Amino acid sequence: KAATCHSSGEEIPTVIALIDMNQWKLPLRHALPRLLPFLAAQRILICKAWACALISVLALFFFAPMTGQISSILDKGEFICLFRECLLAALLLALRSVTTFLQQSLLWEVSLKATYDIRCHVFGCVVQNDIAYFEGGGGAASGDLAFRITSEAEDTGDSIYSLLQTLIPSALQLLVMSVRMVSLSPLLSIVSLVAVPCMCFVVAVLGEKLKLISREGQNSVAALSSFLNEIFPSISAIKAYTAEEFEQQYFQELAWTDFKARMKKKRMKALIPEAILAVYALTALLLFAAASSAASLGSFPANRMVSFVTSLYFLINPIQAVGRSYNELKQGEPAIERLFEITSSKKKVIEVDDALDLSDVKGDVQFREVTFRYDDCLANVLKGLSLDIHGGETVALVGPSGGGKTTVAKLLLRLYDPLEGCILIDGHDVKELSLKSLRKNVAIVPQEVELFSGTVAENIAFGEMFDADDMERIKEAAVLANAHYFISKLENGYQTKLVDRASCLSGGQRQRLAIARAIYRKPAILILDEATSALDNISEKLVRDALDRCMVGRTVIVIAHRLETVQKADRIYFLDEGRVYEEGTHASLLAKGGRYASLFAKKEYANRSTP
Ligand code: ADP
Ligand code: MG
Repeated sequence: KAATCHSSGEEIPTVIALIDMNQWKLPLRHALPRLLPFLAAQRILICKAWACALISVLALFFFAPMTGQISSILDKGEFICLFRECLLAALLLALRSVTTFLQQSLLWEVSLKATYDIRCHVFGCVVQNDIAYFEGGGGAASGDLAFRITSEAEDTGDSIYSLLQTLIPSALQLLVMSVRMVSLSPLLSIVSLVAVPCMCFVVAVLGEKLKLISREGQNSVAALSSFLNEIFPSISAIKAYTAEEFEQQYFQELAWTDFKARMKKKRMKALIPEAILAVYALTALLLFAAASSAASLGSFPANRMVSFVTSLYFLINPIQAVGRSYNELKQGEPAIERLFEITSSKKKVIEVDDALDLSDVKGDVQFREVTFRYDDCLANVLKGLSLDIHGGETVALVGPSGGGKTTVAKLLLRLYDPLEGCILIDGHDVKELSLKSLRKNVAIVPQEVELFSGTVAENIAFGEMFDADDMERIKEAAVLANAHYFISKLENGYQTKLVDRASCLSGGQRQRLAIARAIYRKPAILILDEATSALDNISEKLVRDALDRCMVGRTVIVIAHRLETVQKADRIYFLDEGRVYEEGTHASLLAKGGRYASLFAKKEYANRSTP
């Protein structure tokens, strides 16, 4: 995947690397300042855009009085002069158009680049996060994450645009026009000023309300998207259990909640400009009353009055724009908060500074009195568990489901850290090792195989760049995993694209691809977590042959449901309730007549009764 990403030729900006989010340790309700580093990265573009905005406002500044001048020239009938003035006015307007266009396109570039950076940053935080973030009760729903990184990042970009687009240029325009108005008539200016605090008040109160409503909307649409993300991959179960109508009902409820939230938001959005307009209308009324009384006193010539009204028009514009962008921002704030919520989750599995790189691994594995509990669980899953595995041995973990076998594998990969006790590989505590070298040397074939969109070869060499030379290694791994034969029968062999999580492959084929992926890295320690439990007899035989071949020359930890797989193991640990109950070889455990022996007897019986 990385290979396809980089081969696009275009250089990917690396500002993300420069942004250290830790310096922005602000409470989440102040989400807006978190945008600052992303905006700072675009400062040159922002400066250019604001330079254009300045020119545009200045053009307007010189244009506004011209209407008054032109009308007085018209009165006098000086046509050459009129032509000159009109030409100048047209040029000023054209300049304003061009610079406004440039300003807008530059600001869109800023906002889209910031969106890009934010997305990459947030995605980075998500993938780098501990597995605990995704698993268990407190974990993030994948649909919700997808929604945040796509849609909410886009909303954030829009908020950035509207913030930059209106805030500075409008403030500038406001300032310039105010100066102009004050110079024309201080009295009228003061009258018009009355409106500003009123408008600000209306905007602030309604804006806060809009933010709350927006958050509701954001949650409801996220729920909808989570639901959809979950539902389509499980469509066959829905069909099999005729749950279509049930799901339809559920979807309708979610969609209706979303409808109501949206409706509320749209209503509020429609209300705000009208409220601003009402305040403006009242002010304008006051203003014209004042103006006409001043004019009737003769102290205010008509051409100045026209200039003043033009200036006023260009003054109201930015006020409305600022109001709009403030609303936009309020509306976007929940999205920004939710987006940065992701990045504020803290990692627990962290590499030490001088992490050791494992090399020439012998494959000794020790668990010493390991106690472990998942964050959201009350009871300990492992209770002082000890294992002692020598390099090159094949060791089996058996026991009832829920006994903690998979947890042992997760701890060895350091997906979690134990509460107490330690885990050693070749005598080094796994906490002292670099995660990359640890996970290169310890490979796992999980029960649930996870294949990705991409070619078969990419799936085997997963997570690593590879070129034509590595193809031999990929094939070698596939041959060992008993997968080469079926891969070469595929339409494009190793270059066949797998889509939709490789749903076209059978369980056994997927399992063998997962084995090939694990041994492609030539790990010193291989963990097979119930690798054969979900397979039919023929697939199981193929997978078991593959496993037998992969076991040579490395430490193997087999977690098994089917006891055939474990009989040949050098040692068997019987695990239940987070403890080792029995250990020994198959023969010695049978002779002992304990829990392993009774489990074996039950399985034998089950195998005989269901041929
Ligand atoms: P086994 O592989 O032996 O069937 P596991 O190691 O998967 O057992 O699970 C041991 C216990 O830990 C079970 O009670 C299970 O419910 C619990 N458990 C497993 N994974 C998680 C998790 N991510 N969050 C919370 N509890 C978990
Ligand atoms: Mg398990």
